[in-house]
Amino acid sequence: LTDKLQNVFKNLRSKGRLTQEDVKAALKEVKLALLEADVSFKVVKQFIKTVEERAIGQDVLQSLTPGQTVIKIVNEEMVHLMGSDTTEISLKPGSEITIIMMIGLQGAGKTTTTAKIAGKLKSKGKKPLLAACDIYRPAAIKQLQINGEKQGVDVFSMGEGHKPVNIAKAAVEHAAKNGCNVVILDTAGRLHVDEDMMNELVEIKENVEIHQTILVVDAMTGQDAVNVAGMFEEKIGVDGVILTKLDGDTRGGAALSIRAVTGRPILYVGMGEKLSDLEQFYPDRMASRILGMGDILTLIEKAQVDIDEDKAKEMEKKLKKAQFGFDDYLESMSQMKKMGGFGEILKMLPGMGGSQVNLDMIDEKALGKTEAIILSMTPTERTNPDVLNPARKRRIAVGAGVDISEVNKLVKQFEQARKMMKQMPGMMGGGLGGMMGK
Ligand code: GDP
Ligand code: MG
Repeated sequence: LTDKLQNVFKNLRSKGRLTQEDVKAALKEVKLALLEADVSFKVVKQFIKTVEERAIGQDVLQSLTPGQTVIKIVNEEMVHLMGSDTTEISLKPGSEITIIMMIGLQGAGKTTTTAKIAGKLKSKGKKPLLAACDIYRPAAIKQLQINGEKQGVDVFSMGEGHKPVNIAKAAVEHAAKNGCNVVILDTAGRLHVDEDMMNELVEIKENVEIHQTILVVDAMTGQDAVNVAGMFEEKIGVDGVILTKLDGDTRGGAALSIRAVTGRPILYVGMGEKLSDLEQFYPDRMASRILGMGDILTLIEKAQVDIDEDKAKEMEKKLKKAQFGFDDYLESMSQMKKMGGFGEILKMLPGMGGSQVNLDMIDEKALGKTEAIILSMTPTERTNPDVLNPARKRRIAVGAGVDISEVNKLVKQFEQARKMMKQMPGMMGGGLGGMMGK
């Protein structure tokens, strides 16, 4: 989708003046791209109509940069389509118990997402209890227990011999007794929407006071995900949607249509199998991602966590003068670690989607070792890596208590990094600093 849209936009931008026909032709291509991305037909039709009405207005075509303005309108309408604002899961205050029911088809990612959310809530100071209400899949209870343990949250289960509604009730009692203030019910899905599943969920809803019903759908199933969402909304009622496997979805169709079809907001998106791979959903950021403008905002937010702007600028200067040494390398590694790794940053930059980057060079342990090695170097060696001969390397290895091969590896990585950063100076230094300044 992104590639197609970028082509359309390139054409638009290349024209100085736009006629109505130009806009119509461009929007026709946008329409095809959206349909191909599996955005639902009704949504596409309405979307194009709205954009067209706005874009053909006199002011736009007369403006100095009509192409840019049309792109801006497409962007704004996309944001609008996805709900404009970020929506949070609504929680009861203090020790009052919030009961959340997770629903969705089998394999959508309910159990995984249940644990992911628990982690988020825990870090907000809540005490969640996960309840294993999926009694059909043999490994489902175990899976929840394992994930709960990884997140350090309690899991309530009664085995397979009880009705889900009774497990849910017991879980709430258990939570009250144990001082938990959020109960998340991990319910059973089915391969397709069927009466059995719906009845089971309705029964829970009628007998337990559910505060939030969260629907989990698989982004990779595109329009199916949206249809399924419509059915759940109709039969059970949904407060918010979590779109999983967005990491494997290149089309973006489900993200674009869910809100319009169900009227319910996307709360979070699943970006991978790891329990930390759950991100808040920002319609504006999603729109820029789809439009290929890169997710600069997410990047900036990550960078703002702790990057030191002055240091970054200084580093860029050094890079330009080719004075980038090991001290700077160490500094840059730890700054990048704070931002969540090089690879993730690259993915978010426009046109860098597929970059391959060696991630282990910035994991915790490696960073410690790197530090030890660099600290064993003399100041000359640090600022002037070219002097490192075998004898010096051996001395450094002994000093750092590592094998000489580790020193060699680091020198190689350093050289790679230096090369890489020279190729894109915007990354490390002024680029980030500059972006934050804007
Ligand atoms: P459930 O049947 O709805 O409970 O689904 P599960 O939680 O068991 O998830 C089904 C599969 O999808 C598992 O292999 C998960 O690891 C995987 N999964 C869940 N969420 C994501 C995600 O956001 N990205 C990716 N890549 N895989 C996911
Ligand atoms: Mg499950």
